[in-house]
Amino acid sequence: MSELSNIGVIKDILGRHGFTFSKALGQNFLINPSVCPRIAELGNAGKGFGIIEIGTGIGVLTCELAKRADKVVAIEIDERLIPVLEETLSDYDNVKVINADVMDVDLKTLIDEEFSGLEVAVCANLPYYITSPIIMMLLEKRLPIRSVTVMVQKEAGARLCAKMGSRDMGAVTVAVNYFSEPEILFNVSRGSFMPAPNVDSCVVRFNIKDKTPEGVADEAFFFRVVRAAFSQRRKTLANSTASGLSVDKAAVLSAIEECGLASNIRPEQLSMDQFIAFAKALRPKV
Ligand code: SAM
Repeated sequence: MSELSNIGVIKDILGRHGFTFSKALGQNFLINPSVCPRIAELGNAGKGFGIIEIGTGIGVLTCELAKRADKVVAIEIDERLIPVLEETLSDYDNVKVINADVMDVDLKTLIDEEFSGLEVAVCANLPYYITSPIIMMLLEKRLPIRSVTVMVQKEAGARLCAKMGSRDMGAVTVAVNYFSEPEILFNVSRGSFMPAPNVDSCVVRFNIKDKTPEGVADEAFFFRVVRAAFSQRRKTLANSTASGLSVDKAAVLSAIEECGLASNIRPEQLSMDQFIAFAKALRPKV
C-alpha cells in the first residue's frame, strides 16, 4: 500500500482499527515520505538481500524494504498492529510479520530458517526506550549480517558513532567500534514523526566487521572493564575502573603504567588498542 506516510491515510487506518499510540512502546510513526526510501536504499535492501525489520508500526518502512529486498521479516511487539499490517502489507508476498519482543527472538535461527541463500541486513526506526540494548544485542550475538541501519535519537547517534578518543564517546562507542564501523547517514527532524517526539533523530549505519580486533582473550572481561571505565563521567580511568570493578586503585594504576599511559588519563582519551592493552594488563590483577 502506498502513501503510508500521509497523515490523512495514517489517521484513517488507525481510526478504523481503533488504535491509540503507546508512549511506553516508543510509538512515533514516520510521516515524512522521503525518509523510509532513504533508509531502505542505504540499508542494503536490494536484490539478494533478506531484511530483518524491528518495530513495524503500520508498515511504512516495511513496504519500502519489501519493494527492494528479496524478503523481509518484520518483528513487532504490539499485537494491536497485526490486523493493521495485514491490511497495509497485503500487496507484498515477500513479507513475514512476527508478533514478538525482538529481545526474545532467536535471530540466529530466524536467519537460518528464513534467509537461506541470501545476505542479511537489519533496518529499523527503533523504539527509543530500548535503542542501546537492541543494538548491543544485534552486535554481540555475532549474527551473520552485513549491516544494521537504524533511526535513533540524535544524541544517541552522536554517542554511538563518536570517534574513538573523542569527548563524545562512552562504553557503547567502544562496543560498537569493536564489532562494526559506525557512521551517521543523515538527520531527521522531530516534525517527521507522529506524534512528534521532544528530540531530533538521525539514521546511523553499522557496517559489521568480518573480524573483531585481535588481542582480546576474554571478551566478557574486556567489556566489564570498558563499562567500569565509563561508569563515572568525568573521572579518571583509574578512579572509575577501580570503583566500577571494586578493585584496589593501586592495581589499576599499575596496569595503566604497564601500558605506558598517564596515571590521570581519562577513559575517553583511549584508543581501541589502548583499551585492549589496559584490559589485558589488568586481568591478572583482579
Ligand atoms: N517503523 C515504524 C515507523 O517508522 O513509523 C514504527 C517505528 S516506532 C519508532 C517503533 C516501533 O517498535 C513501534 O511500532 C513499537 O510498537 C515497536 N516496538 C517497541 N518495542 C519493541 C520490541 N521490544 N520489539 C519489537 N518491536 C517493538
